[in-house]
Amino acid sequence: MSAHSELVAQVRRTGTLLDLPSGFYLDGGFQPAASGRVMESLDPGRGAAFASFARGDAGDVATAVASARHAFETVWRDMAPAERGRILARAAQLILAEADRLAIAECLDSGKTLNEAEGDVRGAARAFEYYAGACDKLEGKTFPLGAGYLGYSLHEPVGVTAHVIPWNYPISTAARGLAPALAAGCTVVAKPAEQTPFTALMLADILTRAGLPAGVCNVVTGTGSEAGAPLVAHPDVAHVTFTGSVATGQQVMRSAADHVTRLVLELGGKSPVIVLADCDREAALSGVMGAIFENAGQICSAGSRLVIERSIADGFLEELVARARRLSLGHGLRNPDMGPVSSAEHLAKIAGFVERAKARGAEILTGGAATTDPETGQGWFFEPTIVADRPAGDELVQEEVFGPVLTVQIADDAEHALELANGTAFGLVAGIYTRDHGTAHRLARRLDAGQVFINEYFAGGIEVPFGGTKLSGFGREKGLEGLLSYCRTKSVAAKL
Ligand code: NAD
Repeated sequence: MSAHSELVAQVRRTGTLLDLPSGFYLDGGFQPAASGRVMESLDPGRGAAFASFARGDAGDVATAVASARHAFETVWRDMAPAERGRILARAAQLILAEADRLAIAECLDSGKTLNEAEGDVRGAARAFEYYAGACDKLEGKTFPLGAGYLGYSLHEPVGVTAHVIPWNYPISTAARGLAPALAAGCTVVAKPAEQTPFTALMLADILTRAGLPAGVCNVVTGTGSEAGAPLVAHPDVAHVTFTGSVATGQQVMRSAADHVTRLVLELGGKSPVIVLADCDREAALSGVMGAIFENAGQICSAGSRLVIERSIADGFLEELVARARRLSLGHGLRNPDMGPVSSAEHLAKIAGFVERAKARGAEILTGGAATTDPETGQGWFFEPTIVADRPAGDELVQEEVFGPVLTVQIADDAEHALELANGTAFGLVAGIYTRDHGTAHRLARRLDAGQVFINEYFAGGIEVPFGGTKLSGFGREKGLEGLLSYCRTKSVAAKL
């Protein structure tokens, strides 16, 4: 048996992973909460607690911010960029070397399948690799002021950055924020979601072992109100990257206004996948399946609306329903097609959306009910669900369910598909399936979305800037634009 399968077998036997961190990560090491309080993390695949972690408050947050501020002023902002890059590159290697433990922790904490968790861990390593190479390429400009003057700009790190992270992609979201912030010369206080605290703590420890000086990366765990709110309101935090729900994002924005703190808001979505009659049918079918059922639909950029051209709708939906019915459900460690959703509360929320749709007369083509792991009868699962054509104003068209629930919208032609696709208050991503590249790029320009995928939903990687429009938020992560989110431009003009 390989070391990897032995570890999985041991976790399946004991229900937990040994030696998970239990304290915050402060000033280069693990520490308990000042109050001594802890809270439990639950395994969604079993619906039972598997480990506990420190429960932070405003005092712990203040300690972490002070540590990050000191590290910014004394060591990190002035370190040679190439040296910062070497540390991040070593971190990428260590993440890969420790991928098994990270992925299992992520699988237990979030419920996602082990395959998906492994993909997320590789993605996190890739984020550090990408930004490691960017540290020493943050070049400014010179300005042509004429003889006798010198004008130039500098990209300076903004200072202490706060990262508030949701539960659906814990290590990916942490990495896509931390790597560029650190690359730019900023220091970090991260607050992972209370449902999924472990991989952010493990990442901070890896960074220290890669050579990151103490205090440059701190992690405070706990609830949004007790630890998240004081962090985003702290006067020494220069920038907040918040990823989460619209309602919380709005609170964070209000709170940031008090100190005019810089902000990137990555919020929710109700993203359309447009499937036109001339598409590559197989590519579109597998794209739509992945867009809504990957991570049990708990993806901000999930393709939760299928906007399909009428002439192909019947046959396409028949095949989609057949495939959805074939998906296996189960505990993430067994690598089924789809894992559980994150919590009992979230399961009830998803079920509520579908129950209300049924009461409005919606036709449920498949799924539509909460269920459990067929092997154990445990856990918080929702059946892969497809809801037939709904009108543009319907709740299932307008509201983010954040679960494995696909709403169909039928379009007469490409123009109508565009109108339906743009008809929500969100604007995170959009997908297009067509063989006509002219149509694809014409639609891409007019889609109200921060990112458009053509003929492969979720195409791209860390190189491609990501972020929303409208209620989906503002600011960009990933790509070189993501790096600039953590810099402020200083212009210098001198008379010589
Ligand atoms: P949430 O807003 O409830 O929580 C997100 C994070 O914010 C958690 O760490 C939480 O503890 C913290 N938080 C809660 N209240 C806070 C407060 N008052 N001040 C500061 N922090 C606070 O969101 P969720 O339900 O955990 O996550 C799901 C949502 O996140 C969905 O809407 C999804 O679309 C969105 N999301 C967006 C992206 C993106 O990149 N656009 C990615 C993943 C998830």
